[in-house]
This record gives sequence, structure tokens and C-alpha cells, in this order.
Amino acid sequence: MLTLPSIEASSPSTNELLRACQLKAGFSRVRETNEFVLAHPKSWMGAIIHEIIYDASKAPIDVELAWSTRIRYQVERAKQHPLNQRFADAERWPGYHLLYSGLRYFVRKYEPTCTSRGTSNSSGSRELELRCYDNKLKGRPDYFDSEQLVDYKTGVITDEQSAIAKESYSRQLKLYAAMVHAVKGYWVKKAVLLPVSGQSVVIDIEPEECDAEAAAAVERLNDYNNAIGNGAVKANPSITECARCSYQIICPAFWKNVNESWSDSLEVQSIEGTVTRKPFPIRSTSDFTLSISGSGTVATDDYTVRLGRTQLSSAEPLEAGMAVRISGLKKTSSGNALSGSLRTVIWRLDQIPEVDLWRFDN
Ligand code: SF4
Repeated sequence: MLTLPSIEASSPSTNELLRACQLKAGFSRVRETNEFVLAHPKSWMGAIIHEIIYDASKAPIDVELAWSTRIRYQVERAKQHPLNQRFADAERWPGYHLLYSGLRYFVRKYEPTCTSRGTSNSSGSRELELRCYDNKLKGRPDYFDSEQLVDYKTGVITDEQSAIAKESYSRQLKLYAAMVHAVKGYWVKKAVLLPVSGQSVVIDIEPEECDAEAAAAVERLNDYNNAIGNGAVKANPSITECARCSYQIICPAFWKNVNESWSDSLEVQSIEGTVTRKPFPIRSTSDFTLSISGSGTVATDDYTVRLGRTQLSSAEPLEAGMAVRISGLKKTSSGNALSGSLRTVIWRLDQIPEVDLWRFDN
């Protein structure tokens, strides 16, 4: 049984989770969910890149050595995880070479620029923890001084169709600016999104807007904690919010609402049903096929699913009659057939823990 906890203080990233779906924010605070969730190597590389940039800001470092050491450590951790073991070859991680070359360029261009991590002096503050609004808000901006606030990003920072910063990133920087004001007493003049590769984007800082973001973030946190107290955490099952949610496989609200009309928007297929034929090896390959009768983003019907041994391993042993959930499947051109992808996750229903606090409004 997964028990969702209250959240003491909200950071800009927690605020985005609470904005999207209370249940998702709750899941992110439960350690036991990790086993069921497939990680994304891009988020590992993002964390590694942040660490290396901070180290490089203090003193010159060997970027290649720092990168390879941390990547090796992450690979070893991935090998211990029932789902992430598929990411044992780092050079095949999506975006690996691009991010590494972006990091090398970034460090050459910006090294070393300011103060040590967690410290503050006249030349600025780097990763200084800010707590304010009665300790309801917290955060560690990458860098700020009285002129500017800087946030490093490893992914794309603008909307697909324009050069305008993604709304979520813009909100995060406004929230940081409000925190800097609450703790330091001054407003930064501008906020900058600095990508590891590509052009930076400047976000105007309007104090009233930033204060409003902070007040809304505190209200969202209070709403969540009240919901925990009332035993009624709210889920927000929708194509927009669930499409990239890593908790799909364990989320009761997702499986109650997902249907065929979500198929194109989610890009990958999810199915819940009963195994009608146990995994059977396909000759001269390392893959297996199994049959399942179920529904999800696909119509209620019988499907043949082709999976690799690694994908299948989390749900083994798998026999006919067992109930399963599979997400991250691709439709194949031949009728009722589905096949695994790098994002496929399969668990038996008897392995998936229940959630003791949730509800959603249809
Ligand atoms: S799958 Fe959807 S409803 Fe469930 S936690 Fe994620 S966003 Fe919320």
C-alpha cells in the first residue's frame, strides 16, 4: 500500500507537479514508487551536468573525467533496477553525445564565474537555499545577484513554435525571483534561462507577477496538504497531464480514464488485461510474444504483444490467466499486434501496490 505524505515546503519544480496533478506530486514523494517507474536517462544526465557546472565554477576541472566517472556510477545504479537495467549502455542513451558536447562547450565558455556552491557574497549567490513565506516555499536558484537570476537547463527551453520560453520555466523563474526578494529584500532585474546548448532566453521580472506566482504556489501547497488531511488527494487524469507522467503504470486514475481517444496524443499505447497465452520465444530472436485480452488506448480486444527479454523480466513469471498492465507499446502495421519500445513497462497487477489516498473528479 502506498501512503501519500504531506509536503512541508514547495519548490518551483514541486509547484509544477502540484499544478499538474496532486496525485503525481504525492507519488513523487513516495520512495516505494521508484521500483515501478522507468527513469529517463536525460534526467540523469541533467543532474550530472548541473553537478559538473557547479564544480567547474569553483576551479578548473577535467570535464571528461568528471563526466565519465559520474556516468559509470549511474550505469551501475541502473543495472540494479528492474526496469532501468535496459540503460546499461550509456552511449546509447538518447541525447548522450549531444549533451556531452554541449556540456564541454558550456564549461569552456562560462568557467569559472562566481562563488562556491551554497554560498553568498558580494559577487552573487550560487545554489543558496532560500526558505520563505513561512517556510512554505523553498528553492536553490543556480545563480543570482542583484542584477540577474540564472537557471541552467539541459533540455529545450522554448515552445516548439516560437522563441518564447516554456511557460513552466518562466513560472519557475518568477517564483525564484519572489523568493530572492523575500529573503534578500531586492528584486533581480531579469531572469535568464541558460541552456547547455543553444541561445539563452531572458524573462522580464515584474514584482507583482512574481508575488502572485508565490501566493498561488503557497495556496497550491495548502490545498494538497488539506487534501491529505481529508483523505481526498485529487488526481487529474487527462491526455495533457498523463502523456509524460512516469506514474501511469501504478496510477488508478489513469487506468480508470484512459481510452482509445487518447491513443494518438499519447503516441505510445497502454493496455490492461488478462494474459491469454504466456510468453513464447520467437525462433532465432531473443524476443517473446504473449497474448492479452484487454483495453486501454486500444479497443477492447485480443492482442499479440512482442517484447524483449529485458522488458519482460519485471513481470516474470507470467502465466495465462494473470492480469497485467503494459505501457509504452507501439502499434505495428499488422492488425491487433503491439510491440515493445525503449519506454515499455510491464507489471502484473498483483505486483502493483494500491494507493490509500486518492480520488479524482470526472
Ligand atoms: S498518470 Fe495522470 S492522473 Fe495519474 S498521477 Fe500521472 S498525471 Fe496524475
